[in-house]
Amino acid sequence: MLEMTDVSKTYPGGNVALRNINIRIEQGEFVFIVGPSGAGKSTFIKLLFREVLPTSGSIRLNDVDILNLTAKEVPYLRRQLGIIFQDYRLLPDRTVYDNVAFAMQVIEAPYRKIKRRVMNVLDLVGLRRRAYSKPNELSGGEQQRIAIARAIVNSPSLVIADEPTGNLDPETSMEIMEIFQEINNTGTTIIMATHDKEIVDSMGKRVIAIEHGEIVRDELNGVYGYES
Ligand code: ADP
Ligand code: ADP
Repeated sequence: MLEMTDVSKTYPGGNVALRNINIRIEQGEFVFIVGPSGAGKSTFIKLLFREVLPTSGSIRLNDVDILNLTAKEVPYLRRQLGIIFQDYRLLPDRTVYDNVAFAMQVIEAPYRKIKRRVMNVLDLVGLRRRAYSKPNELSGGEQQRIAIARAIVNSPSLVIADEPTGNLDPETSMEIMEIFQEINNTGTTIIMATHDKEIVDSMGKRVIAIEHGEIVRDELNGVYGYES
């Protein structure tokens, strides 16, 4: 589903964030991206949704060359992805329901279909009862659940998460990971950058380690491999 060939990224100013990345990720995989601060993890994640363009190389997602998309096609690409950030990025003055429904309203889904689907994904993340609360009335873990519901509401084939548990305590983080596992169980590919050693070591997934912009390790059933 994802193929990067000889991908390098040097930022204007000369910071080399990634060098010669070659990677294949198949549909249905669950992959952790680990590595020290400054290694290039965020840049790798941002390449996947065209937040950043590489300096050279090619990136294919579901057999589409995402580097040759027109400006009009980029939003279409992003709607096929679910993207989750450390800081949730919710609309604070909208309800939980509206935060999730918004992603479907954008694609002009019919009202009844939206309602049914939003309630289903809120069930999946355990927030149906909080549908008409505002995000700031909920805990950090619950807010991240909203963000996860929003990310999956349009049934993306790939969910991308950048430090999704970075602001959460260990117990809440594990609960969040159970939700990611459930999503993965339905065949959705998950690519997650994380500093969370406990999570990576307990999940037994493919682990890709990046250091100084290069892949130094790529193991199935891998470990975090750094001091936390
Ligand atoms: P990580 O997520 O692993 O901490 P990043 O991808 O954020 O790593 O950063 C990789 C390297 O690229 C670092 O040296 C960082 O300073 C640099 N970098 C990241 N973003 C930018 C940017 N927008 N402009 C210039 N340099 C950047
Ligand atoms: P993250 O690693 O989660 O992106 P950072 O604090 O490293 O968080 O980066 C915050 C923002 O600053 C990002 O948009 C990143 O691209 C940018 N950035 C990171 N390093 C640099 C840098 N050396 N020069 C300019 N921008 C940078």
